[in-house]
Amino acid sequence: MHWPGTPVEHLSGFQPAFCPRRGCPEHVRLTPGFRFERHGFYSTRRRWRIPRFRCRVCRASFSRQSFAVSYYSKRPELLIPIAAGLVGGSAHRQIARTLGCAPSTVTRNAARLGRHAILLLAMTRRELAGLSNESFVFDHFETFEFTQDYPFGVGTLVGSKSWFVYDLDPAPHGRTGHMSPAQRHRAGQRPRRQAAGGYLGSTRRVFQRLRDMTLPGTTLTVIGDGHKAYDRARRDPSLERRIVLASYPNVPRGPKGSPRSEAARLRDEHLFPVDLLHKILRHSLAHHRRETIAFGRRLNAIMEQMFLTAVWRNFVKKRTEGKSRSGTPAMRLGLTRERWPWSRVFSRRLFPGRTATPPTWTHLYRRLWTSPLFERNAKHELKLAF
Ligand SMILES: [Zn+2]
Repeated sequence: MHWPGTPVEHLSGFQPAFCPRRGCPEHVRLTPGFRFERHGFYSTRRRWRIPRFRCRVCRASFSRQSFAVSYYSKRPELLIPIAAGLVGGSAHRQIARTLGCAPSTVTRNAARLGRHAILLLAMTRRELAGLSNESFVFDHFETFEFTQDYPFGVGTLVGSKSWFVYDLDPAPHGRTGHMSPAQRHRAGQRPRRQAAGGYLGSTRRVFQRLRDMTLPGTTLTVIGDGHKAYDRARRDPSLERRIVLASYPNVPRGPKGSPRSEAARLRDEHLFPVDLLHKILRHSLAHHRRETIAFGRRLNAIMEQMFLTAVWRNFVKKRTEGKSRSGTPAMRLGLTRERWPWSRVFSRRLFPGRTATPPTWTHLYRRLWTSPLFERNAKHELKLAF
C-alpha cells in the first residue's frame, strides 16, 4: 500500500499533485501532470515559509497546508497527542487538562481524526481485494449513546488470522433486559431514533461491502455467534452465493471458575479475534468501560472514535503486546512493511471527493447521523475544510 511516511508539513520541496478544491476538474486527478504555478509564501507563529500555489484550471490559490491533516488548525501540535490520548483510555476533559487546551478543542479534533480514519480505512479496503484470503469473524459490540435507553450495537468485522478490522457499522436497537416500571415509562417518553434497520440492516450492509471488497467468484466464510439477524442478512441471492456463515452460538456458562463446556470452548476459539477486539475497545476507550462516568453523547461521535481506534489497531498497535517481534494486523496482511507511528497515519490529508467511501461511512463523515435528544446536531458541511 502506497502511503508516505514523511508528514507533508516537513517537505520543503512539496509539489501538489492535484487541486484541493472540491469543484475543480483537477481535484480528482490521479495521474501526474497537474498544472499549477507558485504563488508566494506565508508564515504564522507556528509555521514558517509555507509555499502557496495557484491552480491553472480553476485559478484558486491554496498552500501546502491544504494537503495536511492539520489544515486550518491553530494548534497542529495537538493532533497526535489527542489521538494517543483517545485510544489511551482518556476522556476529552482529561486530555484537555493534560495538554493545556480547551475541552472543545479536543472534541473538535477528535471529530477531525475520526473523519481522517474513516477515509483511511475506506482507502485501505480498495487495496485489500487480492490480499485478503482469510475467513472473517463478525459480531456486534454493545454500547449506548447518551443514555442506556438508547443502546446500539456496532457491527465489527475482523480477519480471523490477521485480526485486521475491516468494517464497522452501527445498529441502533431497542433497550433489552430487565427494566423497572419507572425505567420503562422513561424509555417510552424518549423521542425515536433512526434505526437504519437495526442488527439486520447493519449486518446486511457489512456483508454487501465484504462482497464488493473481495474478488468476484471467491467464497467468503464469516464466523458468527448464530445471531438470527446474521442468517437473515445473508438471505439475499447475491450474498448467499458468496458468503458461508459458520455459527458458534453463545452458550450458558457455569459460575466463575467452573470448567467450560465443549460448546463454549469451541465458541471462544472461533470468535477469539472479535472478542479480543471488543476487549481492546472496552479497555482503550474511556466511554466504553463498565461502571464509568464517561459516556458518549452521540452515535456519530462514538463511531468516529471507533474508526480512529480501528486504524490504530490495524496500523499502529502490535497484534500481541509483550512479543517484541509481533507486527501489526496490516503487516500480517502484507499491506505495510513496518509498524506505523502516529505521524505516518496523519502524514497526508485525505479528501472525500477523491476516496470512494461506502454510503454509511459517508453519512457518518458528514455527521448526518443525528441524535434526537439534542436540539442542535451540527453537520460537517464546511466548504474548504471538508
Ligand atoms: Zn483547481
